[in-house]
Amino acid sequence: MRLPTIACITVFFALPLCAQDKPLHGIDLSDIDRNANPCQDFYEFANGAWRAKNPIPASMVMWSKRWAAGEATKDVLHGILEDASANAKTAPPKSAERLIGDYYGACMDQNTIDALGIKAIERELAWVHSVASVSDLQIVIQKLNEEAIFAPFAFGSSQDPHNPQAVIADAAASGLGLPERDYYFKPDEKSKETRQKYLEHIATMFVLAGSDKATADANAKVVMRMETAFAGASLNNVELRDPHATDHKMKLDEVQKLTPDFNWSTYFADLKIDPSVPFNVDQPKFLEEFQKQLKDTSIADWKIYLTWQVLLSAAPSLSTPFVQESFAFHQKYLQGAAELKPRWKRCVEATDNDLGEALGKKYVEKTFSPEAKARMQEMVKNILLALHDDILTLTWMSDETKKKALEKLATFNPKVGYPDKWKDYSGVEITRDAYWSDVVSARRYAVKDDAALIGKPVDRGRWGMTTPTSNAYYNPQLNEIVFPAGILLPPMFDVTATDAANYGGIGPVIGHEISHGFDDQGAQYDATGELKNWWTPADYKDFQNRGACVVDQFSGYTVDGGLHENGKLVLGESIGDLGGVKLAYLAFEKSMQGKPRPADKDGFTPEQQFFISWGQSRGDEIRPDAQRQFVLTNPHPVSKYRVLGPLSNLPEFQKAFSCKVGDAMVRPAEHRCVIW
Ligand SMILES: [Zn+2]
Repeated sequence: MRLPTIACITVFFALPLCAQDKPLHGIDLSDIDRNANPCQDFYEFANGAWRAKNPIPASMVMWSKRWAAGEATKDVLHGILEDASANAKTAPPKSAERLIGDYYGACMDQNTIDALGIKAIERELAWVHSVASVSDLQIVIQKLNEEAIFAPFAFGSSQDPHNPQAVIADAAASGLGLPERDYYFKPDEKSKETRQKYLEHIATMFVLAGSDKATADANAKVVMRMETAFAGASLNNVELRDPHATDHKMKLDEVQKLTPDFNWSTYFADLKIDPSVPFNVDQPKFLEEFQKQLKDTSIADWKIYLTWQVLLSAAPSLSTPFVQESFAFHQKYLQGAAELKPRWKRCVEATDNDLGEALGKKYVEKTFSPEAKARMQEMVKNILLALHDDILTLTWMSDETKKKALEKLATFNPKVGYPDKWKDYSGVEITRDAYWSDVVSARRYAVKDDAALIGKPVDRGRWGMTTPTSNAYYNPQLNEIVFPAGILLPPMFDVTATDAANYGGIGPVIGHEISHGFDDQGAQYDATGELKNWWTPADYKDFQNRGACVVDQFSGYTVDGGLHENGKLVLGESIGDLGGVKLAYLAFEKSMQGKPRPADKDGFTPEQQFFISWGQSRGDEIRPDAQRQFVLTNPHPVSKYRVLGPLSNLPEFQKAFSCKVGDAMVRPAEHRCVIW
């Protein structure tokens, strides 16, 4: 199922032709469910008619206008990559066109990939097979890490939370095949079923890799035992929200004491990292478990575990039976997807993942106009200003804390559209007939590129998302808010749309990312990105109480299947949404000052249009299985509550729709959550 405006897909990228058909681009009045009462269920009101007409496509687990726009972006990337693939032979060697064209071409060569089968990964399997001692294990774990097969730990660069100008080494817990550590322990029937299905999935993959059924079943049990031990020593996703819980900066010899049987000096030397650089161990207890497994687990079992980790990581890039089995467990069983995405789309996603800035450069050239960038930058500036003015009026924050908050606000670095400097992928070796080798080459480049940052001053120009990505982020250590070109599309943003549509669409996203600078995590970092308290004790306590209100609000929301939102898990994102809508609304109001009042549309005031735009851009429908995984693992509330949650706290919304005390969209005054 496609957007009704399928013919206009390309005009999503700023050409005015189709915008003429939709003068209110970003808000579509035909998407409104007129039978719903905006004061009772604004989510249903704003986008109910669209969802009724647009069921989730078989290969997707969520669907909304924003998801549709994200998938439409892949159509554009598809065109770029088909052209690059056709023209690769004549493109200069190592040029971006040549790299992405050959990578995509190799990915699309299903016949060669299928003919090769498991042989594609015979090198990695031979490494694991050759292990005869604990010191051999070290060598193989390191080699696999260099191919981004991070088991059992993940190693990389990290900005020093105590010296934010510096980049240090970091090791984090990793090496689990289920979505989150609690999946290994939850006692409910569904979780037990999931573990049984996972055992069956592991066994099936071993059979595909050449094991007999009895051996494969036995191997699955070994994998489950080891992953369960690693999960038991890992923090859960709520504990991981506390930056102090993963703050353990050490010297190399101190880390060495945690794992006497794993030589970190060799590890650093192989990655050409200065051994005197500080090393943060996110979870010392996890490394202690690693050491315990090195001591207690047989080499034979370690080889089974590492073989599994290779299969798990490589399966989506291998022959059809591996791809289908990986899909059957991760997308179909865990998330309810009905069918695999078409091959071209998976190859587009893989190219974006592995050579994202080479592809992103082409994408921007084709789609993202300087006018769009300028409009977006202006909105960011205005919403930052809205928070500045808002902080000055807060009655709960002391002048001392306000001064520090404003200092932090003044150092926010907004990035819009695409990086100023693109990555140079010339070290990546891409051949047309060996897809897994291409994947490995790109991964090795990414691991080395990241390791090369360790011990250097922080580079503020790097991006954590690729340009075509339909998403945005805040980084508390760089104090930056980042909006890739891929999210700057209708329904979120359109350079030709009204202020009501844009401030109501991308505006709350901008406000959301800004608010992350002051959520339960972001508030713990100061203006320089240092993990350091800048609040007075009384103000911080008040702030935490206001956060507790949000935790209570969201813990009260249930989703299908009897699950509750976990208020503590979604706290940061919910603070982001609460602040985001408010700040965008304040900026929108200000944008109307001193100008003729914008026209009503079909009886909807500009203020109502703002909120309708927000409700429509957040209108995700989600499959029940995907919703279950989302609620258990994702720090965002489900979309419905991202609309209902913040709006039911906002008097501005209630005023715009003349909602009354007692309506579902009006939280009682004593339960209303207010931060900004
Ligand atoms: Zn967020």
